[in-house]
Amino acid sequence: MPDGHSSSDRAPRVRIAPSPTGDPHVGTAYIALFNRAFANAEGGKFLLRIDDTDRSRYQADSEAQIFESLRWLGLSWDEGPDVGGECGPYRQSERLEIYRQKAEQLLESGAAYRCFCTPERMAELREQQKAAKQDPGYDGHCRDLPQSTIDERLSAGTTHIVRLRVPDTGQTIVHDELRDPIVFENERIDDQVLVKSDGFPTYHLANCVDDCAMGVTHVIRAEEWITSAPKHVLLYQALGEPLPKFFHVPLLRNADKSKISKRKNPVSLIWYRDQGYLPEALLNYLATLGWRSSDEREFFDYDFFQSNFRPADISLGGPVFDLEKLGWLNGMHIRALDPSDLRARLERDGFLSGVSEDGLRAIFPLVSERLHLLSDFVQLTSWYFGEPDEYNAEDLLVKKRTPEETRETLDQAEAAFAGFDAYDSESVEAFLEQCRVEWGLKKPHLFMPIRFALTGRRETPPVNDVIAVLGRERVVARLHAAKNKFC
Ligand code: GLU
Repeated sequence: MPDGHSSSDRAPRVRIAPSPTGDPHVGTAYIALFNRAFANAEGGKFLLRIDDTDRSRYQADSEAQIFESLRWLGLSWDEGPDVGGECGPYRQSERLEIYRQKAEQLLESGAAYRCFCTPERMAELREQQKAAKQDPGYDGHCRDLPQSTIDERLSAGTTHIVRLRVPDTGQTIVHDELRDPIVFENERIDDQVLVKSDGFPTYHLANCVDDCAMGVTHVIRAEEWITSAPKHVLLYQALGEPLPKFFHVPLLRNADKSKISKRKNPVSLIWYRDQGYLPEALLNYLATLGWRSSDEREFFDYDFFQSNFRPADISLGGPVFDLEKLGWLNGMHIRALDPSDLRARLERDGFLSGVSEDGLRAIFPLVSERLHLLSDFVQLTSWYFGEPDEYNAEDLLVKKRTPEETRETLDQAEAAFAGFDAYDSESVEAFLEQCRVEWGLKKPHLFMPIRFALTGRRETPPVNDVIAVLGRERVVARLHAAKNKFC
């Protein structure tokens, strides 16, 4: 523990310990959010530790992506591999000597033992247990080897692992702050592997050793670790360390209630960024999946969450990750942005570049209600920031109107708008109505060809708004080009 206090009388120290095994996962952000908000609210520290002891699943660029996507979300950490801190190193692969010493300590006290069973023997054992319909687990073959045998095998360099000596009898109770005490019968807890044959610690050893060494006071992590918790309790006891408070947070789920998986739901934080989800919307949504504000509000920002969230209020149950709901919240967060902020984000995330703030202020109100993603903005406004979509002369035709009549209408409109100068939405609306009556046209006969000429689309904001926002020069040029499609 960094400053020698016990875990109860000091500001909280919490951590996430993601494994760099692939794209940064939305579940990591979910857990990070609760940890960070709690630490920040209590004046504590939020640690990021990289759990990279499983070398078979290690992916070199994953760590940098975890850093980048958590920072994109604004979930920065107080201590971690890249920012340092008083309990480093924060990358488990750089702490092997610490685990080796702790394993030695556990072996000496008898809380752990060396196991020389070969993979072949273990496979056979599993087969036998399967056939006998028994739970899989180690049978204790090497539990009580005479010291002379152990020494002999060690000096012969025989491959081995280190296992936790779980008591045969009694119970281990996990006190989870979100649940009633969870009682595990020791006889059903496997003699967990602590050190693998390659000398690397397993998650269980490294995790407990580090949580102790880093003074972690509250372990807020995914529910899937509940079954490991009794082993961790035994390890803490064997190491002579005080237990942290545990909070096992319900897993995010697919619509069919299975654990969230990339086959059924996007899980990569990079995907969410690339699609144009705002970090504050994703955080807002993740918060609602595990917590409810007392006034039941669904739209809020991180500061509101941090000031109101208590880990003990994390809701149990299986929160279903619903992209549609996230899209709805994202739209609300986009609409809440100041246009200059919106512009900065569109540019930073590579959706648009060189867009003027005035232009953005003009077009934003016309499309804002239809926005779910930043990428929608690009699609909805391309006729404004760029050219109309490609279209053919036929697209300009409305039922019962001939090409000649349509050309005539476009020609009249071009002339009318060239001589018009009040390009605000209301004046344009009045002018359009005046023209329509004068030219004896039904609304669609006038509006549809103009709408298509200006945007290349059937669905747009109201045509008077489109005209007003484009302004005379572009309106006239586009009507002219449309008219010429009939030549
Ligand atoms: N590496 C584990 C994970 O990514 C850490 C679990 C824990 O927080 O103890 O889920």
